[in-house]
Amino acid sequence: MTLSNTERRIIEDSIRNIKDFPKEGIVFKDITTLLNNKEAYGVLMNHLYQRYKEYNLDYIAGIDARGFIFGAALAQMLGLGFVPIRKKGKLPYTTYSEKYALEYGIDEIEVHIDAFSGVQNARVLMIDDLIATGGTANAAATLINQTGAKCIESCFIIGLTFLKGIKTLEEKTPVYSLIEVN
Ligand code: AMP
Repeated sequence: MTLSNTERRIIEDSIRNIKDFPKEGIVFKDITTLLNNKEAYGVLMNHLYQRYKEYNLDYIAGIDARGFIFGAALAQMLGLGFVPIRKKGKLPYTTYSEKYALEYGIDEIEVHIDAFSGVQNARVLMIDDLIATGGTANAAATLINQTGAKCIESCFIIGLTFLKGIKTLEEKTPVYSLIEVN
């Protein structure tokens, strides 16, 4: 199930573009104006619920930090558990960790080794607000699969298609992005 044109417009219109944040040349997609708009937030969450209720999922995994907002809400709507994939050093128990390249330098994300152990071969939906270069999402999908669970799909509210992150991630997992910016 994909978005209707009306749903897409409501969601798209609620996202604010901030030029030159956090640095010159970047157009930052601000989803706080989606979250505080009850119509847009409702349309979005209802769409995600309708799409993913048929996927026979076991968990939703959200990427630090905006993926937590959509992921935790969706997990509750679907009656599923939620797993946070966090920036290095935040998770208290034993973790798997994965490094990925940033424009300058490297970053690292982690997941608890037993995060999906409640279900054997757990079916997991990964979610974040936005995919740009795909570095974060690729590392997150690797982590999910490393635990023995399976990343069934990765979902993004916004996909920056000009950056090719989606293409690369598609080698590892199906990708669904609601709003494509090219
Ligand atoms: P990437 O690893 O390059 O795909 O970057 C994805 C992460 O960076 C996501 O968690 C986004 O929240 C954040 N991000 C990257 N670019 C933008 C942007 N233009 N607007 C808002 N968030 C962004």
